[in-house]
Amino acid sequence: MLAEIRSVSKTYESDGNKILALDNINFQVDDNDFICIVGPSGCGKSTLLRIIVGLEKPTSGEVFFKGEVIAADNPKVAMVFQNFALFPWFTVKENIKLALEALGIKEKEQDEIASKYIKAVGLDGFERVYPRELSGGMKQRVGFARALAVEPVLLCMDEPFSSLDALTSQNLKDDLLMLWAEKNMPPDAVIMVTHNVEEAVYLANRIIILSPRPGKVMADLKIELTRPRNRKDPEFYRWVDKVYSLIV
Ligand code: ADP
Repeated sequence: MLAEIRSVSKTYESDGNKILALDNINFQVDDNDFICIVGPSGCGKSTLLRIIVGLEKPTSGEVFFKGEVIAADNPKVAMVFQNFALFPWFTVKENIKLALEALGIKEKEQDEIASKYIKAVGLDGFERVYPRELSGGMKQRVGFARALAVEPVLLCMDEPFSSLDALTSQNLKDDLLMLWAEKNMPPDAVIMVTHNVEEAVYLANRIIILSPRPGKVMADLKIELTRPRNRKDPEFYRWVDKVYSLIV
């Protein structure tokens, strides 16, 4: 087991009102899992992901990573954001090196690692380019390269494909699946939040379905489709229908 989400609940307070966002969430993450968390808007998916990476504290319960309570600065856990979250005044390579500098890695090694992951995400030749000169899909490739460069064991992603066009996002998904399946490259496991059921069935080996707020685990489904998966396969659509039927 890689990580464990144990009895996690989250209550927000706004204007004196208490809002229960997550209610007693429990699941385990194994090595080699690709988990997609799906559920209706506002059910707490992003909140849960932020708690898993340690960016937010649960009101009760805990998240364990390799047997220890998760901390926000754990370099073995990385996050990819929907809006890319790049620094506009830094080049592609500088954006990636910043993440490595924060880990205390020396300049020369930063350079080598950044080049390796720029290549791995297909951005060779764009090292010195600024984010504003890149398309959305290329910006998200930088987001992936930056997250992968720290060589995380667990990669967490919040709707990373939702602002990309269909073709770009399909290419990026296939590249991500290749990296996930490649034993010598990070990450080992992925947790991804999405509202797109088809995308979840295409990518995941497990889909966790949350209820409308307060988010509770309604189902934890193992997707038993062989890879590479084919969206035109009737079996693929049976799984998509099954997931839809479980979402309230
Ligand atoms: P999802 O990602 O599934 O759309 P979120 O995790 O963003 O859901 O939000 C879950 C619920 O918690 C929502 O009702 C939202 O309004 C509330 N919420 C999220 N963050 C905060 C916050 N910082 N303060 C108050 N309420 C919040």
